[in-house]
Amino acid sequence: MPTRQLFIDGEWREPVQRKRIPIINPANEQTIGDIPAATAEEMDIAVEAARKAFFRNSGKDWSSTTGAHRAKYLRAIAAKIKDRKVELVELEAIDSGKPLEEASLDMDNVIGCFEYFAGIAERLDSEQRTPVSLPMETFKCHLLKEPIGVVGLISPWNYPLLMAIWKVAPALASGCTAILKPSELASVTCLELAEVCMEVGLPPGVLNILTGLGPEAGAPLVTHPHVAKISFTGSDTTGVKIMTAAAQLVKPVTLELGGKSPIVVFEDVDLDTAAEWTLFGCFWTNGQICSATSRLLVHESIATTFLEKLVKWCEKIKISDPLEEGCRLGPIVSRRQYEKVMKYISTAKEEGATILCGGARPEHLEKGYFVQPTIITDVKTSMQIWIEEVFGPVLCVKTFATEDEAVELANDTHYGLAAAVISKDLDRCERMAKAFQVGAVWVNCSQPCFYQAPWGGKKRSGFGRELGERGLDIYLNVKQVTRYVSSEPW
Ligand code: NAD
Repeated sequence: MPTRQLFIDGEWREPVQRKRIPIINPANEQTIGDIPAATAEEMDIAVEAARKAFFRNSGKDWSSTTGAHRAKYLRAIAAKIKDRKVELVELEAIDSGKPLEEASLDMDNVIGCFEYFAGIAERLDSEQRTPVSLPMETFKCHLLKEPIGVVGLISPWNYPLLMAIWKVAPALASGCTAILKPSELASVTCLELAEVCMEVGLPPGVLNILTGLGPEAGAPLVTHPHVAKISFTGSDTTGVKIMTAAAQLVKPVTLELGGKSPIVVFEDVDLDTAAEWTLFGCFWTNGQICSATSRLLVHESIATTFLEKLVKWCEKIKISDPLEEGCRLGPIVSRRQYEKVMKYISTAKEEGATILCGGARPEHLEKGYFVQPTIITDVKTSMQIWIEEVFGPVLCVKTFATEDEAVELANDTHYGLAAAVISKDLDRCERMAKAFQVGAVWVNCSQPCFYQAPWGGKKRSGFGRELGERGLDIYLNVKQVTRYVSSEPW
């Protein structure tokens, strides 16, 4: 693992207190390096650097450059990441525990996301001044879209670089300058992004990357008076803390939080295809996806056969070190998270549910935070396993008899991120898509996510939309300019 410092004002800086956080390989529990731990002191310096870069007032400040100018940097970053893809994919797999093949797809998305927002930045130039038609000829009005200011970007560990880029790319494209605070559990590739920024000559202060713990490094970013907005992805518990702190300063926030998403499998499906999407939808990224379809609702007429198939397929899933060829399920990111997942499984048992398969660590692996793919049946809606986000490879199952019952069960959650429906009846799928109380619906699939389409949740999964054209709006202030144009006195 490369040894890096904090990336502030275009250069590496050692944290004032010289504190560092160990990097532990979740596949073998070995300490393999460390990352710097920022505190409020370094946050202040970084915010000041970002402010200077935003306001410099020399005509070269990032906020008043053209979108086309900013796009050149975004495209250059994408090209550099492409050059270093093999190395970055390996670092991501070791640091986070995700299988190499999945880390490789993440990196393709990182590259694509930078290129996509470069295109949007270029288009922004022609949309800078939008006329508004008024009912009175004595006035003329137009809108200006302006970058909101210095933004704080706080990201989680499950897609370490990708979740960060979902924020960094649109923020920089819009003309904002930024402080990125990645998760202390997987920050390695975000620090490599700093190296890439230096290589492409990104102006100092435009992007600052400060690793560290949430309360020590993330919290001071949220409460900093010169940070205009916070974009956060993480747990709903932290989201509530961030929203509460930001409210004291009337600071806008975008919150991408957790989920407990359903996948509804009707009786008319092709069982193999439905089984494939069900397992993929829950076990991809070792089950650590915000939108994991971790509640299976299956029609009672096919439940027995379908579950038999799922169990048989689970037994064939290759669980191994993520660097091993053919690995489909790697370790959970950390010991703490591993213990949390195991506790969810034991509580489900204690509450009377049945562990149909899995539920333990795989016997062939002595070290590492591995959990077998687990399917839980005899689940009641009052059980913890039905209600709370596990964030591990755990699928809980309920059956239903009618479409109305399926809708009711699907929406029986305080989360509202995503939902999937599998059926050959497309009218029914359309009805279900409308009935789900979520931000994203998958029909005859689960999990594909494209940066061209807006992403975000409702209910306790948060609010605001990242990605797509709208992904830029959260970093823009829309200002109306109204002019009195008559020569007559008012
Ligand atoms: P987390 O809430 O523990 O941490 C997320 C980030 O917040 C980290 O960088 C952490 O250091 C920081 N943080 C922690 N306390 C803070 C505080 N008091 N002030 C400021 N920052 C603080 O979440 P996690 O465990 O890293 O990620 C998993 C969660 O993220 C899951 O709930 C998952 O569903 C969610 N998630 C959501 C989406 C989405 O798009 N909705 C995507 C990925 C992950």
